[in-house]
Amino acid sequence: MTAPPSPPPAPAPRTSHAALPPDARDFLLAEARRRFLDYVTVDTTADPDSGRHPSSPGQLTLGRRLQAELEALGLAAVELDAHGYVYATLPASPGVEAPALTFCAHLDTSPAVSGAGVRPVCHADYDGGPIGFPDDPDLRLTPEDSPELRRFIGQTIITAAGGTLLGADDKAGIAGIMAALAAFRRFGDWRHPELRIVFTPDEEIGQGTDHIRMDRLGSIGYTIDGGLIGELEAECFDAGEVTLVFHGHNVHPGYAKGRMVNAVAAAARFVACLPEAESPEHTAGREGFIHVTDLRGNESEATLKMILRDFDPAANAARLELIRSLQAVFERRCRGLRIEGHHRAQYRNMRPILERHPQVTRLAAEAIRRAGIEPLFKAIRGGTDGARLSFMGLPTPNVFAGGLLFHSLKEWIPEAALGKSAEVILHLCRLWAEGEAPATAS
Ligand SMILES: [Zn+2]
Repeated sequence: MTAPPSPPPAPAPRTSHAALPPDARDFLLAEARRRFLDYVTVDTTADPDSGRHPSSPGQLTLGRRLQAELEALGLAAVELDAHGYVYATLPASPGVEAPALTFCAHLDTSPAVSGAGVRPVCHADYDGGPIGFPDDPDLRLTPEDSPELRRFIGQTIITAAGGTLLGADDKAGIAGIMAALAAFRRFGDWRHPELRIVFTPDEEIGQGTDHIRMDRLGSIGYTIDGGLIGELEAECFDAGEVTLVFHGHNVHPGYAKGRMVNAVAAAARFVACLPEAESPEHTAGREGFIHVTDLRGNESEATLKMILRDFDPAANAARLELIRSLQAVFERRCRGLRIEGHHRAQYRNMRPILERHPQVTRLAAEAIRRAGIEPLFKAIRGGTDGARLSFMGLPTPNVFAGGLLFHSLKEWIPEAALGKSAEVILHLCRLWAEGEAPATAS
């Protein structure tokens, strides 16, 4: 579906290169807040087992809502496709010849916690203590859970009501992008390059870019899907998945000596041989791990699933090598045992791609500074759509959306973050439009 761009309202007075129009901050916060509180009420929980694209019908419901809103904002080439991707284009300001920018956020929420019937609760004037949840009297969000809460004393904190996640991951990102688009319409002289907007389905189950159409995107991308205000991420894990199927031999246990080959017991011993220090519960910062995600089976057959994560692909290759050599040792030691191994690369660290295009991350850092925030450079202990897009030819770092404790009942966002991510998008667009060198290097 497409809609011709409607003429913007009368432009506000021209402002200095770095300053927002006087009432812009209030406008951005109000726009982003209103939209966010609406988007989170749509259940868009991704379903890893559905086999459909999108994996759940709620993502199409939210997609249709966004499609209508993008059309109402006058964007061109607005489309919701059959896979649940929402695309839209905002033509460049007159005379701007900068490369087209893509802003990307995801529609779905994590299947780890229910996203059905989300009721957002705004806790005004936060006092620094525990925050209660109306639908679950036993649940408390405290600064021990999330020390960042202390930075927002006196401000409004938004949580769910208890029993569901909030969905700031990543509806805060969508709200920020939508508020920025509303601001371009309102403040007609705010210069920007051509913008290509994409809202993706099923990011949380690793399928966010499976059916994406690159011809609908610009040549540079930004995902708005990070955490705390100020976060900027140009590096993520290199990720792979290993499945081992243990084939044994079952006989009556009373007469099994020298004959039974117990597949599930062998698989359990295999897990015990993995380095305990290299597990998610023993690693942080730049350390990688092997994470055992599933072990099930019986004497005849058992399946063991693991994921490998590290910033350095060579470290993951070494872990894969360890698994293969253990596999050979087990087969040698236990006659009759056969282990079938499968490895699948999942996503790669985007750092080498972004290092080839340093301006992309540098301008994002400068835009964050112009919004009055010190950028917080982080390496994502996970992946983003941006990692995949980077390897598909679109260098795409990740900018904060503002939420914390993602994928949990205690997920929260400071209300102020909603306006700030929109503000960063405005500054970023102007920086690209005017081809300005950043004032400070990252
Ligand atoms: Zn996310």
